[in-house]
Amino acid sequence: MATTRRDYYEILGVARDADDKAIKSAFRRLARELHPDVNDHPEAQESFREAAEAYEVLSKRETRDLYDRFGHEGLRTGGFHPTDFGNLADVFSVFFGDELFGFGGRTGTRAARGADVLAEVEIELADAATKTTRTVPFPVTITCVTCEGSGAAPGTRPIACPRCDGAGRLQSVSSSVFGQFVRTQTCPQCRGLGEVVESPCPDCDGAGRVTETRELDVEIPAGIHDGQRIRLSGAGHAGVLGGRAGDVYVLVRVRPDPRFVREGNDIISAVDLTLTQAALGATVNVPTLDGEVEVDFTPGTQSGDVRVLRGKGMPVLQGFGRGDHRILVNVAVPRRLTDEQRRLLEEFARSENERNYEAAEGFFEKLRAAFR
Ligand SMILES: [Zn+2]
Ligand SMILES: [Zn+2]
Repeated sequence: MATTRRDYYEILGVARDADDKAIKSAFRRLARELHPDVNDHPEAQESFREAAEAYEVLSKRETRDLYDRFGHEGLRTGGFHPTDFGNLADVFSVFFGDELFGFGGRTGTRAARGADVLAEVEIELADAATKTTRTVPFPVTITCVTCEGSGAAPGTRPIACPRCDGAGRLQSVSSSVFGQFVRTQTCPQCRGLGEVVESPCPDCDGAGRVTETRELDVEIPAGIHDGQRIRLSGAGHAGVLGGRAGDVYVLVRVRPDPRFVREGNDIISAVDLTLTQAALGATVNVPTLDGEVEVDFTPGTQSGDVRVLRGKGMPVLQGFGRGDHRILVNVAVPRRLTDEQRRLLEEFARSENERNYEAAEGFFEKLRAAFR
């Protein structure tokens, strides 16, 4: 490590009050210019390391503050250790995409995080109202047991790639009016690994990984909404060469229930009362998430009335309590009458008057009930 350390702002070529965006783009520019894969000048690697370290410090609020106030010494006593050059490859690939650096560059580690897996499970609305567990199958790539991930048949070992002599990369030099360009590309034969398998493992065809269907018992929290995902950390595809496994995302589909409409945490359903039930009052079985419940309707119940069953709706996801169940009343008028029924209704019609239709409760009271 150099004894006199250069100023991080100077390394990146930005002003001390540069904002995050300026720091990021300065580093991007330098990285493209200095990365060992694109620049084989002997000093490029050290310059790149320096730029990476400067970026690492200046891109984070905490370390930048520390550096601004106390300089290099402040960082050291503050317990900051610049990331190992090799580990930085991970950060960079997120930044630029993998193309620029190739898979597992000269200095990078070859470990790569396993891929995420998307699984899907469908549950009934009523199941979403309680905590429920489902066994969810999903395909996952795991390390081959036979060859322990090397891809080589038992008793054999991978050999250095003959095409790139184990370097993992190929270089080509081209000349143009701008000068000489050294282009480095990932070796296509070993895909950057630097070694190839001569006698492939019979169980994985040399891939080192196999696909297996796994099952996971997934706990689905009460109150989950259609389309939400549950993340199971580390249950996904195996990482490459010791990289950490990916995650499983379980997409939860909540099948619509024809009896209910879900509105946030509330459930809305409709109930049909006959003309006489509405006029005389009735006790009717109404389906709810908890099964059928008996609901009393007072005489004179009107079409459009809303009955609220407090706390009978959906549970609040990762919270407390439940929404309400609102029952919308529809009064069904008979479509066909017998002669006798017609005669009785005509008789009723002769006796009815305005008082029969006077509201007992205020209009606003009802309106309030409808909106809870
Ligand atoms: Zn194998
Ligand atoms: Zn190769």
